[in-house]
Amino acid sequence: MPAAIEEAMRLLKTNNFKITKQRKAMLEYLVDTATKRFVEVTSIDDFMRQTFPKMSHNTIYRNISEFADLGIVERQIQGDRASVKFQCDFQHEHHHHFICSNCGKVIELKDCPLSDAITTQLGGCEITGHLFQIYGLCPECANLKNN
Ligand SMILES: [Zn+2]
Ligand SMILES: [Zn+2]
Ligand SMILES: [Zn+2]
Repeated sequence: MPAAIEEAMRLLKTNNFKITKQRKAMLEYLVDTATKRFVEVTSIDDFMRQTFPKMSHNTIYRNISEFADLGIVERQIQGDRASVKFQCDFQHEHHHHFICSNCGKVIELKDCPLSDAITTQLGGCEITGHLFQIYGLCPECANLKNN
């Protein structure tokens, strides 16, 4: 079993969630489609409805959002489209991404640019979150473009 699924099942268990066959199928789908890139929530919904026709959209969306709350998946919203990706790194949950604008590949960035200079400048403010993302072409796509 892929390590990411084992880690996800461990998180479900320690948080008292049952490992249902639906949750397991969703994890397997995510491992196949969403380890290197973000996959749209609607694709997960389509897959789950095909596999479990009796499962409601509500239950599917609730499962996805539980996965996000537990840190099993990372969530991203662009415009009106929500997508998720298997957690890049269960050890360092806080990280940033490079995203290839051609193929969608995600590269994890462990350095966080939120500096002491910024937090000092914001003294007195309560910071609740920040976004930082780099876009461009991954090495493979850059190669294709230049050849
Ligand atoms: Zn990530
Ligand atoms: Zn690429
Ligand atoms: Zn950061």
